Amino acid sequence: MERISFPEGFIWGAASAAYQVEGSPLADGAGPTTWHEFSHRRGRIRDATTGDVACDHYHRVEEDVQIMRRLGLMAYRFSPGWARIFPEPGSLNQSGLDFYDRLVDALLDAGIQPWLTIFHMEEPLWLARMGGFVRRQSVDHLVDLGTALFKRFGDRVRNWITINEPTIHAVCGYFLGEFPPGRRFALKSLFHCLHHLLLAHARLCDAWAAVNSEGSIGLAHHSVWVSPADPCRDRDVRAATFMDDVANRTVLDTILRGSYPEHVVSRLRLFFPRSIERDLQTMKRSGTFVGINYYTRNVYRWSALVPFSHAVESIAPGSPRSAMWEEFPQGIANSLMRLKDEYGNPPSIITENGFPLPDSPGRDPLDDPERIAYLSDHLAMVAKAIASGADCRGYFHWSLMDNFEWNKGLSMRFGLLRTDFDSQERTWKKSAFWYRDVIGRNWMEAPRISETPAFSETRPSAAQVPH
Ligand code: BGC
Repeated sequence: MERISFPEGFIWGAASAAYQVEGSPLADGAGPTTWHEFSHRRGRIRDATTGDVACDHYHRVEEDVQIMRRLGLMAYRFSPGWARIFPEPGSLNQSGLDFYDRLVDALLDAGIQPWLTIFHMEEPLWLARMGGFVRRQSVDHLVDLGTALFKRFGDRVRNWITINEPTIHAVCGYFLGEFPPGRRFALKSLFHCLHHLLLAHARLCDAWAAVNSEGSIGLAHHSVWVSPADPCRDRDVRAATFMDDVANRTVLDTILRGSYPEHVVSRLRLFFPRSIERDLQTMKRSGTFVGINYYTRNVYRWSALVPFSHAVESIAPGSPRSAMWEEFPQGIANSLMRLKDEYGNPPSIITENGFPLPDSPGRDPLDDPERIAYLSDHLAMVAKAIASGADCRGYFHWSLMDNFEWNKGLSMRFGLLRTDFDSQERTWKKSAFWYRDVIGRNWMEAPRISETPAFSETRPSAAQVPH
């Protein structure tokens, strides 16, 4: 074992999102959202649950903040429900804002920094009915939301996340059909949605900068590490490189360089809006930090049968897997090192990282050594990247407590605290005690990783990109 320390002032937090924890989605004048509608559609949620109650955080804010305080959290990342604030376009609902006032004030009283995510997967139904982010007018609507939030909370909230995971919102909603609106293989909608989210990010950063000189703002990018199934097989390398461009560089290049990756645009131009060149001027270098949500890697092999990408996902033989994904701790360090080596080392924050563990018969749900091992392996790699020069300033665990895990429902559990969804009791898992101790000391004991490089080249280099 070795002692792994984190830099002084490193921010330790936990993250959540409105629909996943709050419950009472229609309370106090709130309008319906896409997730409210989607989760009530038959067959959409694996365990047929909804976010109607979720963690009932809406009624338990003060109690939950006390738990955060006892955990020693320095920061809490949350998202206000858009339709609580704008139940209809242009009409501001004060009661919705009041709820988040209580949350922000309770956090500040407890000495916890609020980190506010403006958009986390949940559109008001009125926006969805206008075409959601597929339509350009969505950008103005999201900027209106951001402006209302800056105005109301700007005196107390210093740190902002514009948008959570643009790629996941677009891909799960318009390609995989797993998130609302539940469409599949709709490539044009996917890339319109993605482009408008990235444009909205830039516009939100501008709106924020116009009224703020202190604090920070950034986007939370879903960074999935991408590897070729066989690094010696040229075609696999090309397929993986293209998927890496789509999944990662499409976001990073736009927000940090003001360009789309060349091969994404040349191959997929017909799916993007006509305005991209003009918009890229606005999108250049937006934000003061980059948020990285990291969970896993994807491995691809080449296939002639798949149009455009020629990429099929495959499973790396023998790789450890959780209930949802491969475990690949190296990828979190790689993601941070990429920012350092290829994007000028902007400040970064791990805005999410966590481990899913569904209940299984006969096992103690509070005993979660797999989660502790996952967190320890990933944090060790974060420390390694920092030691190698990456400017990573904090880490948010996903999530504080078990909650509504989108299309997997209530049974896929990510919490440090166990939520009993009948009694709403929250109970500390072993991982919660472990995390509290890491935060308290700002160091942890972990298996030796000194020999592991901070960056491991399991992916192709940009130069090898395909045609
Ligand atoms: C999302 C969270 C989600 C988590 C675990 C991220 O993609 O931002 O909302 O619950 O991953 O799946």
